Amino acid sequence: RPRVLSGIQPTSGSFHLGNYLGAVRQWVALQETHDAFYMVVDLHAITIPQDPAELRANTRLAAAQLLAAGLAPERCTLFVQSHVPEHAQLGWVMNCLTGFGEASRMTQFKDKSARQGADRATVGLFTYPVLQVADILLYQADQVPVGEDQRQHIELTRDLAERFNTRFGPTFTLPAPYILKETGKIYDLQDPQIKMSKSASTPKGLVNLLDEPKVTAKKVRSAVTDTDTVIRFDPVEKPGVSNLLTIQSTLTGTSVAELEQRYEGKGYGALKSDLAEAMVDFVTPFRSRTQELLDDPETLDSLLAKGAEKARAVAAETLAETYDRVGFLPAK
Ligand code: ATP
Ligand code: MG
Repeated sequence: RPRVLSGIQPTSGSFHLGNYLGAVRQWVALQETHDAFYMVVDLHAITIPQDPAELRANTRLAAAQLLAAGLAPERCTLFVQSHVPEHAQLGWVMNCLTGFGEASRMTQFKDKSARQGADRATVGLFTYPVLQVADILLYQADQVPVGEDQRQHIELTRDLAERFNTRFGPTFTLPAPYILKETGKIYDLQDPQIKMSKSASTPKGLVNLLDEPKVTAKKVRSAVTDTDTVIRFDPVEKPGVSNLLTIQSTLTGTSVAELEQRYEGKGYGALKSDLAEAMVDFVTPFRSRTQELLDDPETLDSLLAKGAEKARAVAAETLAETYDRVGFLPAK
C-alpha cells in the first residue's frame, strides 16, 4: 500500500468548507486504499499567537471533526503532531539544509507574514514550511493530499529530500502532491478571487462547518456572483458562480455539466437556494457527530494516544537513520 500523510491546523475551531473539500474529503477516501497518516498540526498552529486553553480545546475539536468527517481509527493513523517529538527533531536537520533565500520564496510565508506585520511575524512562521518538510519525510510518504496552496511546500519537500539523499545517501522517499483539480482551491464566498481561509477570509465569505446551519444557509444565499444572469462554469469570467458550481457538484455528486443544464434559464437564486439546502444537509449530521465525540474526551484522548504510538514507531525509525547519516554520535 502506498503511504499518504497530511495535516490540518487546530486554529480557529471549526474547519471550513475549503478544508473539507480541498483536503479532508480526500483523506477519508484514501484511508481505504493507502497506508494513511493524518495529524492535527499544533506545532504549526503556534507560528501565530494562540491562547493555551483555546489551543488545547481546538486540538481536540480538530480531531473530533476529522472523525466526524469519516476518518476511522482502525483504517488510518490519527495523531497530534506534538505527541511525536521526532517532527521537531527532523525539522531542525531540515532547517540546516534549507537556504535562507529558498525559505524566503515561500508564498504562504510571504502572505501570512504580510498579514501579521513584518515586526510581529516570528521565525517559527518563517521556517514552518521546513517543519512541514520534516512532517512528510518522517513517514516516507508517497503522496500528500492537500489543497493547491500547499503545492509549493511539496516542491520544497522534494528538493530537500533529494538534496539530503544526494549528500548523505538514499534516505527519503520523494513525495508527490495529491491535489484535485476540481476542489484544490475553494474560494471565499464574498471575494471569489481569494482562497477561503481560516485566517484570511471575510467572516461572511468563510463557511465554517460548525456554524449554525441557518448561518451557513445565509452565507450561501448572500454569496457574491456577478451582474450577468447565466449559470456557467467559467472561473475567469465568472469566479463566484463557478465556485458555487464546484461546491454544489462535489457535495451532491452531480457533474458541473449536468448542473449547467439543470439551471439553464434559471437565476442565481435557484442555484444558491439548492446549494444552501445541500450545505445544511451536509453540516447538520457533521455537527452532531462532532459534538458526540467531544462529549467523550477520554475516548478521544486514548484514541489519539494510540495514534501517536503508531506514528512514533515509523517516525523514530526515520529519525534514527537520518541522525546516523548526518554523523551524530549514537547515544549509547
Ligand atoms: P490558514 O489560512 O491559517 O493557513 P487554512 O484555512 O489554510 O488556514 P490549514 O489548516 O492551513 O487551513 O489547511 C488544512 C488543509 O486544507 C490544507 O491541505 C490546505 O491546503 C487545505 N485548504 C485550506 N484552504 C483551502 C481552500 N480554500 N481550498 C482547498 N483547500 C484548502
Ligand atoms: Mg493553510
